[in-house]
Amino acid sequence: MNTIGHLINGEVRLDDNRTQDVFNPATGKVEKWVALASKATVEEAIAAAEAAFPAWRDTPPMKRARVMYRFKELLEQHAERICTLIGEEHGKISHDAAGELQRGIENVEYACGAPELLKGEHSKNVGPNIDSWSEFQPLGVVAGITPFNFPVMVPLWMLPMALVCGNCFILKPSERDPSSTLLIAQLLHEAGLPKGVLNVVNGDKEAVDTLLHDPRIQAVSFVGSTPIAEYIYSTATANGKRCQALGGAKNHAIVMPDADLDNAVNSLLGAAFGSSGERCMALSVAVAVGDAVADALVEKLQVAMKPLKVGNHTERSNDFGPVITRQHQEKVVGFISSAEAQGASVVVDGRDVIVPGFEDGFFVGATLIDKVTADMSSYKAEIFGPVLQVIRVNTMQEAMQLINAHEYGNGTCIYTRDGEAARYFSDNIQVGMVGINVPLPVPVASHSFGGWKRSLFGDLHAYGPDGVRFYTRRKTITQRWPSASVREGAEFSMPTMK
Ligand code: NAD
Repeated sequence: MNTIGHLINGEVRLDDNRTQDVFNPATGKVEKWVALASKATVEEAIAAAEAAFPAWRDTPPMKRARVMYRFKELLEQHAERICTLIGEEHGKISHDAAGELQRGIENVEYACGAPELLKGEHSKNVGPNIDSWSEFQPLGVVAGITPFNFPVMVPLWMLPMALVCGNCFILKPSERDPSSTLLIAQLLHEAGLPKGVLNVVNGDKEAVDTLLHDPRIQAVSFVGSTPIAEYIYSTATANGKRCQALGGAKNHAIVMPDADLDNAVNSLLGAAFGSSGERCMALSVAVAVGDAVADALVEKLQVAMKPLKVGNHTERSNDFGPVITRQHQEKVVGFISSAEAQGASVVVDGRDVIVPGFEDGFFVGATLIDKVTADMSSYKAEIFGPVLQVIRVNTMQEAMQLINAHEYGNGTCIYTRDGEAARYFSDNIQVGMVGINVPLPVPVASHSFGGWKRSLFGDLHAYGPDGVRFYTRRKTITQRWPSASVREGAEFSMPTMK
């Protein structure tokens, strides 16, 4: 069986440390192993990045961007292979994996604008014959730690921007589905990235802790669950590093009495069950305003959910695949059972789904739970599975209070035909990414991605303009060239414009 290694100084290699099983979640079988980097291996990767930094820092931004132009082409040429690897280890259906890759490529395209993004700010004559400018310098060696649910897109939120800004990078992908991440790192080298500028270390807590404590690492970007995000943020910042740590979510959709219900139902299906609900922007709670809306919504959802197909990634007609592990499958099923035990009504039950030919796979069928209340554990926690819960409220204010009181604030959406209500909602909701009749308001690459409250720790959001700020350090230079013809005496008061 194949062991997935690390990519250090341009070479794929193993170390003598531990390994971990990598499953195909559709078959439930271990199909590969992944090497778990030791502290020494991570330190070797950091040393390679440090050695590569001076030359990469001094490479003109246009040349760094050219690597990204070629990288984009290679990602497109190898799309089928990348999507197959995502399917084999994550379980994502091929059309969904293609969507993930495309959203990642858009970040590569944005980073191709490096010369424009890095050109800084300039003011002539801030004082007599004095000019001043701000430039954005790279930080040095930076690290990224990524989750299983987007093994290609999330690394592409980080890598293109960090690299075109002139940094060297250590990436620690998820140990559950590392192959597609390793492949894109190899493609970056094929695109012309010099050795050592990007290093991939597969691993677990040992590798992450080494990155968090090593003084050579200047900044850490993390995407994953909230408890780990809190740990990463507190440890990295305590060690003097810049850090952005994106965490978990519980995303609500308000369905107003005037909403186009058929449209809401259609878009809720994809947003709740796509990728088995394993998206940090998945809409997992529908808040129906009024019992009439709730009754109609539940009835329509029940009908629309009947034809949904769960199965293996290779079958394009499947709507979604398995969840990531047996333990996670049990956790999702446990939340459905707890909601039932606490008084909610399981209207469509995906707990016992069996996929013919894949009987040992980690599948959970699309599940709809009605009459959920805010005190239930299935409501409080992030389930991260194909489960849509319906909460019934009487007014829009009540719906908004519910959302604002939740500990997470990643994404939300309102379905309405009322522009005033939509505007009030977007102005006052305590959530970082808001959709108006748009179920998954994931910002495009030219904006930045991030939640509020316990969905993000740190000041800057991921990618887009905030990505440039995160991966650079501002330096402001004030310059005067004294002229032989204008000699001045000494000045002892604070310089001001005269
Ligand atoms: P996770 O927190 O278990 O793992 C994320 C990364 O942290 C992995 O690389 C993992 O190896 C590492 N890690 C895990 N435990 C660790 C520990 N004890 N110490 C140090 N490092 C550790 O998350 P996951 O299960 O891979 O991903 C799903 C989670 O990610 C969900 O909560 C989801 O909402 C969240 N997510 C958030 C966003 C966002 O943008 N906010 C995007 C994608 C996923």
